[in-house]
Amino acid sequence: MKLVQKLSESKKTLFSIEILPPLKGKSIQSIYDGIDPLMEFKPAFVDVTYHREEYIYKKRDGGYLEKVSIRKRPGTVGICAAIMNKYDVEAVPHIICGGFTKEETENALIDLQFLGIDNVLALRGDSIKTEPSFVPEPGGHHYALDLVTQINQMNKGKYMDEEMKDAAPTNFCIGIAGYPEKHFEAPNLISDLKYLKAKVDAGAEYIVTQMFFDNKKYFEFVDVCKQNGINVPIIPGLKIFSSKKQLTALPKIFHIDIPQPFYEELEKCKDDKQIKEVGIKWCIEQSKELLKANVPCLHYYTMGTSEATRAVAKAVF
Ligand code: FAD
Repeated sequence: MKLVQKLSESKKTLFSIEILPPLKGKSIQSIYDGIDPLMEFKPAFVDVTYHREEYIYKKRDGGYLEKVSIRKRPGTVGICAAIMNKYDVEAVPHIICGGFTKEETENALIDLQFLGIDNVLALRGDSIKTEPSFVPEPGGHHYALDLVTQINQMNKGKYMDEEMKDAAPTNFCIGIAGYPEKHFEAPNLISDLKYLKAKVDAGAEYIVTQMFFDNKKYFEFVDVCKQNGINVPIIPGLKIFSSKKQLTALPKIFHIDIPQPFYEELEKCKDDKQIKEVGIKWCIEQSKELLKANVPCLHYYTMGTSEATRAVAKAVF
């Protein structure tokens, strides 16, 4: 079922989660162990992230270093199929531009369609660690906008081969990312919103936000989106703080602020156990306020913290 239909039919705020594929070599059981404790809250969908290749250097005989391309967390599509089959829940694979030619994207989308996957989150993807900025694959997409356009074309039965006759249209509901605190490369929020609107105009039907710890940022973002003609559901993405090192890691990786009152609470904590307690409490407060504001769905970035997500969901839903 298309998420946009689920969102519009639901009279109450839905619950959803994002999970990461396990590190290569780990079994799918680790995914089930993370989802099982949360099934009680009937997630409307489970997002599965996509992780592209990384380059590492391996020491070889004679002391020389070989540059090797590896994917540490493969399995996005397989995990989606497995969890749809096991839990009868909508699984949403993240589809990225990076590392894919347009043809590879087309073929990947055909696989998803054949698997019965109705929803995709279309993203540009992060740059690989050894590159200072995002470099598109030769023959691939530069921006998520181009990817949304390609998916939307396939939804109309238009594939890359223009001579292809009577091609079966795909039927994907397309989600995209939005940034209440602006995407880090955008010169300002208005410029970022211009491209966000372009993605919606190109066929995106809902937005999932980057994590934020200050609800005011989300509410302002929703208002400014509306003022700029963006009228699709905007799903807030929430992360439960779980370790002291995230005080610097989260702002660095996700380009977000930690509000001062929250920072002061976290600073007082002696260990990660206390941090987790404060993080859960903050996330419950955030969730309750968002619920009161009738947001379409509360989306939790579980990142291996399903027990903490369970504690929040228990207090909120
Ligand atoms: P875009 O929409 O392409 O925007 C990127 C930048 O370019 C922005 O600054 C925008 O303002 C600008 N821009 C957009 N279009 C144009 C244009 N036509 N011309 C000029 N400038 C333009 N990364 C992964 O690798 N895997 C994942 O699974 C993943 N999941 C995510 C889930 C969510 C909910 C979010 C919020 C992010 C996720 N990311 C993931 C990270 C994401 O890929 C990065 O934030 C990336 O840097 C931007 O992706 P985007 O889709 O927002 O890009």
